Amino acid sequence: MKTLIIDKTDEKSLWKAGKIIRKGGIVAFPTETVYGLGANAYDENAIKKIYKAKGRPSDNPLIVHIAEIGDLEKVAREIPENARKLVAKFAPGPFTLILKKQPDIPDVVTAGLDTVGVRIPKDATARAFIRLAGVPIAAPSANISGKPSPTKAEHVIADLDGKVDAIICGEDAEIGVESTIIDVTGEIPTILRPGGITKEDIISVCGRVEISQNVLTGVKKNETPKCPGMKYKHYSPDAEITVVEGEKKETADKIKELIKADREKGIKVGVLASSENEFNADLYIFEGKNNREFANVLFDALREFDKNGIEKAYVQMCMKDEMELTVKNRIYKSAGYRIIDLGE
Ligand code: AMP
Ligand code: MG
Repeated sequence: MKTLIIDKTDEKSLWKAGKIIRKGGIVAFPTETVYGLGANAYDENAIKKIYKAKGRPSDNPLIVHIAEIGDLEKVAREIPENARKLVAKFAPGPFTLILKKQPDIPDVVTAGLDTVGVRIPKDATARAFIRLAGVPIAAPSANISGKPSPTKAEHVIADLDGKVDAIICGEDAEIGVESTIIDVTGEIPTILRPGGITKEDIISVCGRVEISQNVLTGVKKNETPKCPGMKYKHYSPDAEITVVEGEKKETADKIKELIKADREKGIKVGVLASSENEFNADLYIFEGKNNREFANVLFDALREFDKNGIEKAYVQMCMKDEMELTVKNRIYKSAGYRIIDLGE
């Protein structure tokens, strides 16, 4: 398949992208969280193309993207009070609400669930594209299933060129990790996946929040998670990732020791750290001064390890702030829960 590569400033081509959606095609587009791969949410055949292009398991539902708050009712049949409060404060923005779905949202979008994930992105290109399409856009992240989510146009091109109808190239993602998924169908809002909107943000509006137990532990065999995406292998680069967690100095010292041993065996080693480059690794990447910056570089760093043929990489996890849960959720998964905890 020939993929049309579109620049976000090219209005005529953006209009074409909208038309591709109406005709049943699939288009990758930028958002403030990560790039998405979208199709008309009402078109079952188009949705199936997304699963095929990504190699995504069919029981992992997609998020429906709309441009206007007023369109929420078109997708969801009930908007509880907590949902209204969160939308009033944070929409458009980096979060997804789980709501009871309208009957005309097809099962392929929701993987047969009675609920639907709805998101109103803030990114100007995403909003223009959804408006031009004229329909709600169902979209997961625009990466090959199992690989790190794409935060730059080049990541999308690397994964999906030749597999999708068009790729809209925009800015690098502002947040860099996928949306916070908040289940608002019960009395207390529940975070199913942490993201750019934090637990503290939700408490400030709803007074209370719960966090799904799978957020930091992964899903055990035979367990049915509330958020189906939780049970799959995620964000996995070819490099073997190990998280080293604890205080800054201790974690840096431990990583140095591990790198020294690996390099003596001839292993090509990478490090992603908030400490300065004192590691003597084959590739050092700075993770930022806080976890919001860390979230922003995380997926690109995982891809950089692979591009540079890194076999093993160590990730320093020592910063404590509101975005810690979000970063840990992603990095633990990418490490397959291989964690050295020096804090105990
Ligand atoms: P992605 O944007 O690629 O991370 O994929 C969308 C995510 O949203 C997946 O992790 C899904 O499990 C989650 N999701 C979508 N719809 C629902 C829903 N109705 N209930 C719970 N999780 C959902
Ligand atoms: Mg994804």
